[in-house]
Amino acid sequence: MSICRRYIKSIKKCIPASRIITNMLDQIPVKCSTCEQTSLTRGNFNDHINKTCPNINIPCSASNIKCPWIGLRHEYETHLSTCKYEALRLVLTQLISDNEQLREVNQKLNSQHKKMNIHMQQVLAENQEFNLENQKLNLEIRKLNLDNKKLHIEKEQIYFQNQQLNDEIQEVRQENQWLILKQQQLTQMEQQIIRFNQLRNKTLSIQFMS
Ligand SMILES: [Zn+2]
Ligand SMILES: [Zn+2]
Repeated sequence: MSICRRYIKSIKKCIPASRIITNMLDQIPVKCSTCEQTSLTRGNFNDHINKTCPNINIPCSASNIKCPWIGLRHEYETHLSTCKYEALRLVLTQLISDNEQLREVNQKLNSQHKKMNIHMQQVLAENQEFNLENQKLNLEIRKLNLDNKKLHIEKEQIYFQNQQLNDEIQEVRQENQWLILKQQQLTQMEQQIIRFNQLRNKTLSIQFMS
Protein backbone atom coordinates (compact mmCIF):
# COMPACT_ATOMS: atom_id res chain seq x y z
CA MET A 1 0.00 0.00 0.00
CA SER A 2 1.34 3.46 -0.96
CA ILE A 3 0.48 6.87 0.39
CA CYS A 4 0.55 10.19 -1.49
CA ARG A 5 3.24 12.35 0.07
CA ARG A 6 2.09 15.64 -1.34
CA TYR A 7 1.04 18.18 1.30
CA ILE A 8 -2.27 19.92 0.47
CA LYS A 9 -2.23 23.49 1.75
CA SER A 10 -5.84 24.30 0.84
CA ILE A 11 -8.75 22.27 -0.54
CA LYS A 12 -9.49 25.21 -2.87
CA LYS A 13 -6.24 24.55 -4.72
CA CYS A 14 -7.32 20.98 -5.60
CA ILE A 15 -8.72 20.45 -9.09
CA PRO A 16 -10.85 17.39 -9.96
CA ALA A 17 -9.00 14.80 -12.06
CA SER A 18 -10.19 14.13 -15.61
CA ARG A 19 -12.67 11.28 -16.27
CA ILE A 20 -10.03 9.05 -17.86
CA ILE A 21 -7.83 9.30 -14.81
CA THR A 22 -10.80 8.78 -12.47
CA ASN A 23 -11.80 5.67 -14.45
CA MET A 24 -8.26 4.32 -14.24
CA LEU A 25 -8.12 5.05 -10.51
CA ASP A 26 -11.50 3.31 -10.00
CA GLN A 27 -9.98 0.08 -11.32
CA ILE A 28 -7.41 -0.02 -8.47
CA PRO A 29 -8.10 -3.00 -6.18
CA VAL A 30 -8.77 -2.05 -2.58
CA LYS A 31 -9.35 -3.96 0.63
CA CYS A 32 -12.21 -3.35 3.11
CA SER A 33 -10.62 -2.82 6.52
CA THR A 34 -13.81 -3.77 8.41
CA CYS A 35 -14.60 -7.15 6.75
CA GLU A 36 -11.15 -7.83 5.26
CA GLN A 37 -12.70 -8.47 1.78
CA THR A 38 -10.13 -8.00 -0.97
CA SER A 39 -12.04 -8.57 -4.22
CA LEU A 40 -13.02 -4.89 -4.36
CA THR A 41 -12.08 -1.88 -6.55
CA ARG A 42 -11.99 1.78 -5.65
CA GLY A 43 -15.03 2.25 -7.95
CA ASN A 44 -17.37 -0.10 -6.13
CA PHE A 45 -16.05 0.46 -2.61
CA ASN A 46 -18.87 2.88 -1.64
CA ASP A 47 -21.44 0.35 -2.89
CA HIS A 48 -19.75 -2.32 -0.78
CA ILE A 49 -19.91 -0.18 2.37
CA ASN A 50 -23.47 1.05 1.76
CA LYS A 51 -25.04 -2.19 0.55
CA THR A 52 -23.08 -5.36 1.26
CA CYS A 53 -20.27 -5.04 3.81
CA PRO A 54 -21.30 -7.51 6.57
CA ASN A 55 -19.33 -5.71 9.33
CA ILE A 56 -20.94 -2.26 9.00
CA ASN A 57 -23.50 -1.11 11.55
CA ILE A 58 -26.94 -0.56 10.02
CA PRO A 59 -30.34 0.36 11.46
CA CYS A 60 -33.37 -1.95 11.21
CA SER A 61 -35.69 -1.31 8.23
CA ALA A 62 -38.36 -0.69 10.87
CA SER A 63 -36.38 2.25 12.34
CA ASN A 64 -38.95 4.58 10.79
CA ILE A 65 -41.55 2.95 13.07
CA LYS A 66 -39.29 3.28 16.14
CA CYS A 67 -37.34 -0.02 16.12
CA PRO A 68 -34.23 0.94 18.10
CA TRP A 69 -32.07 -1.93 16.73
CA ILE A 70 -28.68 -1.01 15.27
CA GLY A 71 -26.32 -3.90 14.50
CA LEU A 72 -23.89 -5.48 12.05
CA ARG A 73 -25.30 -6.19 8.60
CA HIS A 74 -24.63 -9.94 8.86
CA GLU A 75 -26.80 -10.07 12.03
CA TYR A 76 -29.65 -8.18 10.39
CA GLU A 77 -31.46 -11.22 8.89
CA THR A 78 -31.64 -12.84 12.33
CA HIS A 79 -32.96 -9.64 13.91
CA LEU A 80 -35.54 -9.12 11.16
CA SER A 81 -37.01 -12.62 11.67
CA THR A 82 -37.78 -11.66 15.30
CA CYS A 83 -38.32 -7.87 14.93
CA LYS A 84 -41.56 -7.07 16.77
CA TYR A 85 -41.76 -3.63 15.14
CA GLU A 86 -41.66 -5.04 11.60
CA ALA A 87 -44.36 -7.60 12.59
CA LEU A 88 -46.58 -4.75 13.84
CA ARG A 89 -45.75 -2.40 10.94
CA LEU A 90 -49.39 -1.81 9.91
CA VAL A 91 -50.62 -1.08 13.42
CA LEU A 92 -47.57 0.99 14.35
CA THR A 93 -47.72 3.03 11.13
CA GLN A 94 -51.34 3.85 11.84
CA LEU A 95 -50.58 4.70 15.49
CA ILE A 96 -47.62 6.88 14.56
CA SER A 97 -49.64 8.78 11.96
CA ASP A 98 -52.51 9.16 14.45
CA ASN A 99 -50.00 10.38 16.98
CA GLU A 100 -48.60 12.89 14.49
CA GLN A 101 -52.07 14.17 13.73
CA LEU A 102 -52.85 14.45 17.43
CA ARG A 103 -49.61 16.33 17.95
CA GLU A 104 -50.58 18.81 15.22
CA VAL A 105 -54.04 19.22 16.75
CA ASN A 106 -52.40 19.70 20.14
CA GLN A 107 -50.04 22.35 18.77
CA LYS A 108 -52.96 24.19 17.18
CA LEU A 109 -54.91 23.98 20.43
CA ASN A 110 -51.88 25.21 22.37
CA SER A 111 -51.46 28.21 20.09
CA GLN A 112 -55.19 28.95 20.35
CA HIS A 113 -54.91 28.59 24.10
CA LYS A 114 -52.04 31.09 24.16
CA LYS A 115 -54.05 33.53 22.03
CA MET A 116 -57.07 33.07 24.30
CA ASN A 117 -54.86 33.71 27.34
CA ILE A 118 -53.54 36.93 25.83
CA HIS A 119 -57.08 37.96 24.94
CA MET A 120 -58.27 37.11 28.44
CA GLN A 121 -55.50 39.18 30.00
CA GLN A 122 -56.53 42.12 27.80
CA VAL A 123 -60.15 41.66 28.85
CA LEU A 124 -59.10 41.48 32.52
CA ALA A 125 -57.07 44.69 32.18
CA GLU A 126 -60.03 46.41 30.49
CA ASN A 127 -62.28 45.13 33.25
CA GLN A 128 -59.99 46.58 35.91
CA GLU A 129 -59.99 49.94 34.13
CA PHE A 130 -63.76 49.75 33.89
CA ASN A 131 -64.02 48.93 37.59
CA LEU A 132 -61.85 51.92 38.48
CA GLU A 133 -64.03 54.19 36.35
CA ASN A 134 -67.08 52.71 38.01
CA GLN A 135 -65.68 53.38 41.47
CA LYS A 136 -64.91 56.99 40.50
CA LEU A 137 -68.44 57.41 39.17
CA ASN A 138 -69.88 55.92 42.36
CA LEU A 139 -67.89 58.43 44.42
CA GLU A 140 -69.18 61.27 42.21
CA ILE A 141 -72.73 59.98 42.66
CA ARG A 142 -72.31 59.85 46.45
CA LYS A 143 -70.98 63.43 46.44
CA LEU A 144 -73.89 64.58 44.30
CA ASN A 145 -76.33 62.81 46.61
CA LEU A 146 -74.81 64.55 49.64
CA ASP A 147 -75.00 67.93 47.87
CA ASN A 148 -78.58 67.16 46.97
CA LYS A 149 -79.47 66.36 50.58
CA LYS A 150 -77.80 69.59 51.75
CA LEU A 151 -79.73 71.58 49.14
CA HIS A 152 -82.95 69.86 50.17
CA ILE A 153 -82.37 70.77 53.84
CA GLU A 154 -81.55 74.37 52.89
CA LYS A 155 -84.70 74.49 50.77
CA GLU A 156 -86.80 73.31 53.69
CA GLN A 157 -85.17 75.89 55.99
CA ILE A 158 -85.91 78.65 53.48
CA TYR A 159 -89.49 77.39 53.11
CA PHE A 160 -89.90 77.47 56.91
CA GLN A 161 -88.43 80.99 57.17
CA ASN A 162 -90.73 82.06 54.38
CA GLN A 163 -93.76 80.77 56.27
CA GLN A 164 -92.63 82.61 59.40
CA LEU A 165 -92.28 85.81 57.37
CA ASN A 166 -95.75 85.31 55.92
CA ASP A 167 -97.18 84.88 59.40
CA GLU A 168 -95.46 88.07 60.55
CA ILE A 169 -96.74 89.96 57.50
CA GLN A 170 -100.30 88.84 58.27
CA GLU A 171 -99.93 89.92 61.90
CA VAL A 172 -98.67 93.34 60.76
CA ARG A 173 -101.56 93.58 58.29
CA GLN A 174 -104.10 92.79 61.03
CA GLU A 175 -102.51 95.38 63.32
CA ASN A 176 -102.67 97.87 60.47
CA GLN A 177 -106.37 97.20 59.91
CA TRP A 178 -107.05 97.56 63.62
CA LEU A 179 -105.19 100.90 63.55
CA ILE A 180 -107.22 102.09 60.53
CA LEU A 181 -110.43 101.18 62.40
CA LYS A 182 -109.25 103.07 65.48
CA GLN A 183 -108.37 106.02 63.27
CA GLN A 184 -111.86 105.99 61.73
CA GLN A 185 -113.48 105.83 65.21
CA LEU A 186 -111.30 108.72 66.31
CA THR A 187 -112.27 110.78 63.27
CA GLN A 188 -115.97 110.08 63.96
CA MET A 189 -115.54 111.10 67.60
CA GLU A 190 -113.77 114.25 66.53
CA GLN A 191 -116.58 115.13 64.13
CA GLN A 192 -119.16 114.51 66.91
CA ILE A 193 -117.20 116.77 69.20
CA ILE A 194 -117.06 119.47 66.54
CA ARG A 195 -120.85 119.15 65.97
CA PHE A 196 -121.51 119.20 69.65
CA ASN A 197 -119.36 122.30 70.01
CA GLN A 198 -121.17 124.02 67.19
CA LEU A 199 -124.55 123.20 68.75
CA ARG A 200 -123.45 124.47 72.14
CA ASN A 201 -122.09 127.67 70.60
CA LYS A 202 -125.40 128.24 68.84
CA THR A 203 -127.38 127.68 72.06
CA LEU A 204 -125.11 129.99 73.96
CA SER A 205 -125.51 132.79 71.41
CA ILE A 206 -129.33 132.42 71.42
CA GLN A 207 -129.41 132.67 75.25
CA PHE A 208 -127.13 135.65 75.09
CA MET A 209 -129.32 137.40 72.54
CA SER A 210 -132.52 136.88 74.52
ZN1 LIG B 1 -16.40 -4.91 4.13
ZN1 LIG C 1 -36.19 -4.22 13.98
